[in-house]
Amino acid sequence: MQTSTVQIQQDPARYRVLTGDRPTGPLHLGHYFGTLQNRVCLQQLGVELFLVIADYQVLTDRDTADRPAERAEDLVLDYLAAGVDPERATIFTHSAVPALNQLLLPFLSLVSVAELQRNPTVKDEIAHSQQNSVSGLMFTYPVHQAADILFCKANLVPVGQDQLPHLETTRTIARRFNDRYATTVFPTPEALLSDAPLLLGTDGGKMSKSRGNAIALGADTDQTAQMIRGAKTDTERRISYDPEQRPEVSSLLLLGALCEGLQPQDVAEEIGDGGSATLKRRVTEAVNEYLRPIRARRAELAADRAHLRAVLRAGNERANAVADVTLAEVREVMGMR
Ligand code: ATP
Ligand code: MG
Repeated sequence: MQTSTVQIQQDPARYRVLTGDRPTGPLHLGHYFGTLQNRVCLQQLGVELFLVIADYQVLTDRDTADRPAERAEDLVLDYLAAGVDPERATIFTHSAVPALNQLLLPFLSLVSVAELQRNPTVKDEIAHSQQNSVSGLMFTYPVHQAADILFCKANLVPVGQDQLPHLETTRTIARRFNDRYATTVFPTPEALLSDAPLLLGTDGGKMSKSRGNAIALGADTDQTAQMIRGAKTDTERRISYDPEQRPEVSSLLLLGALCEGLQPQDVAEEIGDGGSATLKRRVTEAVNEYLRPIRARRAELAADRAHLRAVLRAGNERANAVADVTLAEVREVMGMR
């Protein structure tokens, strides 16, 4: 299900956005072109933005969270550097909003174990997990996410492709809750995908913070060049855009094209017989040029950690107020008041 930007432009007040990230490391180009750029655009169109820093969800695939508070501040830093306006957005950490976690319980009752086990993203995340055994939290992750999205009654969720199965769970839960309690408390949120819903990392797999294959927004120009130089490609000299047959080359072309404001086919045409080395040089230059202002802003913002904490404090306060109202409503319709 896709909402078009034209629909949003016509009536931005009809939409509320919730999306977020796990504080597992610095944001990368996959985040930027997969969802972050869309978040900033939506905010500029006048849509209200909620950003969850999903700190409890770090524990889905590892035993402990590494410096969660510090990493949460780093996410705020990346958001602001990318252009999110903290005056108009609610940026909060999952763990600071207890009412949100209370929603998890009735939501868990609305999905079957078999449905949770079938989720293809959960399967992929299990394959890349840093744990020897799979915890219960891994399976309940999509339901957790439903609580994140529905506590503020968001109806639009800008995400990467890997999140579509999770969003489908949220939609199912919203519908089933409304049906079971004969209410209209929750909207059925829609995904908003970008032109780069699955940017590949340097190893040819999904670019991910936790897989050592990502180009961070905050990386310097030399680190960026080094990462792109080491990216997996193929041996065919002629560069062509063919995501099916040549996924790695095509993902690099897409990345370069997004940075240059061109179509990937046109970039491929221009490179022609230049081979992977020319492609990589061009993409490196395009990425470093594109990220220059974002990186400059990031360096400035990084000097004031107190500001990042203040943004989070304000966001947590607002998210708590919103979550308390929704929880009261839920308890009311469930007859628990
Ligand atoms: P981790 O490896 O710790 O899971 P991640 O890089 O997958 O980190 P998440 O915090 O899980 O990042 O994802 C945050 C958001 O960014 C989600 O909406 C996800 O779909 C999107 N996203 C992550 N990686 C990509 C990518 N490579 N291309 C497009 N979107 C992405
Ligand atoms: Mg992930």
